Amino acid sequence: MTIAPAKKGLTVLTDPNPQLRKVSEDVSVEELQTDEMKKFLSELYKTMLDDDGIGIAAPQVGVAKRICFISDVGKNPRVLINPEIAWSSKTMISMQEGCLSVPNVFGPVTRPKAVHIKALDENGKKLKIKAKGWLSRVTQHEIDHLDGILFVDKADYLEKNNDEKQSLL
Ligand code: ZN
Repeated sequence: MTIAPAKKGLTVLTDPNPQLRKVSEDVSVEELQTDEMKKFLSELYKTMLDDDGIGIAAPQVGVAKRICFISDVGKNPRVLINPEIAWSSKTMISMQEGCLSVPNVFGPVTRPKAVHIKALDENGKKLKIKAKGWLSRVTQHEIDHLDGILFVDKADYLEKNNDEKQSLL
């Protein structure tokens, strides 16, 4: 990834902000080349780093565009533009999730164990990612954000926890 974090990040919106419930719009390749978009990607990346997120989606800062950052629990951060799930495994798995937009609330969500993702990178180049483990989890959580879905909608149950070391998406 060629994106460097901006000096200053953006403010993360929290549930029940209605911006989190919008269905985001696709980004065009032309739009990716604008200075405004490059600046936004740097700022969104910085926001994820500042808040110790392992993923973040544009609607979490009030921008209804199909853009998210994913990482493998902090490793190999990358941006996905217009991500789509091209394939998902029949095997499902329940894992504990948390979200920057739902502070101090966690809960297990059952999702496909592995997914294949199609997306564009920051230069508009096509990407294919085979994701399993946490990367699969983070990617599915972030794509849900682009459709206005929060993990609390899907969790088997929710619990309050003020332990800041939990992973946040
Ligand atoms: Zn989230």
